[in-house]
Amino acid sequence: MNFVNILWSQYLVNIIDILIVTYIIYRIILLLKGTRAVQILIGILILLVITFFAHDIFHFRTLSWMLENFWLAAVVIIAVVFQPEIRYALVQLGSQHWTKIISMPEPSYINEVIEAIKEISERKGGALIVFEKDVGLKEYIETGTTVNAAISRDLIVSLFNKESPLHDGAVIIRDGMLVAAGCVLPLSSSESKLSKTFGTRHSAGLGLSEITDAIVIIVSEETAKVSAAVNGKITGNVDPDQLRLNLMDSFWKTSRKSVFSRIGLK
Ligand code: ATP
Ligand code: MG
Repeated sequence: MNFVNILWSQYLVNIIDILIVTYIIYRIILLLKGTRAVQILIGILILLVITFFAHDIFHFRTLSWMLENFWLAAVVIIAVVFQPEIRYALVQLGSQHWTKIISMPEPSYINEVIEAIKEISERKGGALIVFEKDVGLKEYIETGTTVNAAISRDLIVSLFNKESPLHDGAVIIRDGMLVAAGCVLPLSSSESKLSKTFGTRHSAGLGLSEITDAIVIIVSEETAKVSAAVNGKITGNVDPDQLRLNLMDSFWKTSRKSVFSRIGLK
């Protein structure tokens, strides 16, 4: 009886152990799917195989010495290369919806943004509008010009007017304020997700959504269509009024479960 008990508890510990590791690996794969991290991981895997052969099979002393030293430095290299992804993963961990119980007043600035989007689209202009969420966008804000102004439809329309010196690049919105314009965003690492009609403006919007939790709205100068990039996924031709509801839901309601998922935007 005792023996059976011990056996079971041993088994149980192992099963739970394996389940936890499987879950962690699953989450990591989900996080990395479709990002540049995949290529880097493949590179690391190849190096691991070479190290194994050099050290354990062929006993190449110099090569294995070099590779072993490389692995010491690799931890630091990986941390530096994956810094945005690691930061995003940690922020996601810490910002689960049950930690957010604070209710905020209805953000009327979202209406202004939507009205601006409609007008820019009617005028056949282009726009790239970023809503910062939990991941700080300081490094992208710094690439542009500081504005720090209250948001209004007219402000956004003027900024994206082709005559405006700041019309190129993105405007970034933080806590209901338009903090910067003319910002340069990182291009997407998975160009395959973009259809042929999408150029660099869309790639930049998608790119930022891949490495941060920002919501990015893109108005196409070519087609006048509005797209939204969220969590590394771009949805084309979204209705501005539907978008307004989604944004309200993301920034106003206490629940972090965004309605973005309802229109396939996660
Ligand atoms: P559109 O449908 O409006 O033509 P597009 O996706 O086809 O957009 P382009 O035609 O290449 O893209 O648009 C170029 C504009 O996109 C630039 O003038 C600039 O304002 C913006 N842009 C390009 N690259 C970036 C970037 N890395 N960060 C921010 N904005 C960018
Ligand atoms: Mg274009």
